[in-house]
Amino acid sequence: MSDPATILDDHPDLRASLHDLYRHLHSHPELSMQEEATAELIEDRMSGLGYDVFRCGGTGVVATLRNGEGPVVGFRADTDALPVQEDTGLDYASTARGTLPDGTAVPVMHACGHDMHVTAAIGAATLLAQDRDAWSGTVVFLFQPGEETAQGAASMLADGLWDRAERPEVIYGQHVWPGVTGTIDLTPGPAMTYSDAWKVTVKGRGGHGSQPESTIDPVVLAAHMIVRIQSLKSREVPAQKAAVITIATIHAGLKENIIPATAEFTVNMRNLDADVREHLLDGLRRVILAEAMASDAPEPEIEELYTFPLLVNDEDETARVVEVLRGAIGEEQVDEIPAVMGSEDFGALPDAIEVPGVYWFFGGLTRDEVEGEEPTVTNHSPFFAPQLEPTLGVGVTAAHAVLTDRLARA
Ligand SMILES: [Zn+2]
Ligand SMILES: [Zn+2]
Repeated sequence: MSDPATILDDHPDLRASLHDLYRHLHSHPELSMQEEATAELIEDRMSGLGYDVFRCGGTGVVATLRNGEGPVVGFRADTDALPVQEDTGLDYASTARGTLPDGTAVPVMHACGHDMHVTAAIGAATLLAQDRDAWSGTVVFLFQPGEETAQGAASMLADGLWDRAERPEVIYGQHVWPGVTGTIDLTPGPAMTYSDAWKVTVKGRGGHGSQPESTIDPVVLAAHMIVRIQSLKSREVPAQKAAVITIATIHAGLKENIIPATAEFTVNMRNLDADVREHLLDGLRRVILAEAMASDAPEPEIEELYTFPLLVNDEDETARVVEVLRGAIGEEQVDEIPAVMGSEDFGALPDAIEVPGVYWFFGGLTRDEVEGEEPTVTNHSPFFAPQLEPTLGVGVTAAHAVLTDRLARA
């Protein structure tokens, strides 16, 4: 499989300007819900192209181009970066720093490739603005902040997105990922999981390590909870149903002979089905409370950290998109894949107005990086550095092809 031809091959000046834009965004990443400079840059670029632009949800930007009769079609690109110290060695690597909401100073990096999404969307928006004879209707670009923290789509919706913007009849989105550059993967139906995260504070009674009988040991109690929580998935979810539970942080105590008063852990649960989700959320609460009771401990504190919605790709629209992408990128470059157990808040945008959404992945790595001996670098890694081309060209081509297909159908 060779690299696909992309629409940027015919637009060398646009390609050069998008490369500059990408490098600029890459070296100026901003944390979730703090994408102020990114939003200003997007507003400038999009209004310069003739789009009507307004801010929504703080650092979100909505950009609309009306071009005669026809459907209203939406395209979403997320804009935020992550608290990661970049280690790619690129000459445009980020040295930016930021501050988390809790006040912690952190390095910042576009380690999830959202800089690629913004650049590709602006590329497609430019082509649509430059060739208005090729389509008819209204295109609405949604530059969404705060994807990484599941805040951004919610904040745009809470700020009256669908009262203020024209309502699309379908919304598209895309994400760069560790596939081979030049390829696209997507899943009809449920495509990315519900994801719920909780912080659990286990309460015991502290004391001397030599006299556990005078304490309620929250470390032993948390250990029981964690083991039992894993059995929710293996014993209570039908084997045909996808679900995964990860407990990735646990903190307790300061010294080997002091039993602490509390222990803390976080739990993340993902699944592809509303019934499974409800069962697991109930089960989680049940196990935590029952284990505390079994230890005669006070009731633990449960804090809900975030919820990502299920991302469902409308089956009919997805079939259409597959056909269009195969035509634009290449028959063999586009694959249908099983659902991905990661999560996204993209689905909240179409769901809020009950219109279909379609979301696909485009590869960003060389074949050797994906299939070679070295472990593949994934999104969120300090080494995540998508090949600029043909990755960006494919992102622009895909967005442009899918939008013009829908906008030419009027
Ligand atoms: Zn991410
Ligand atoms: Zn991402």
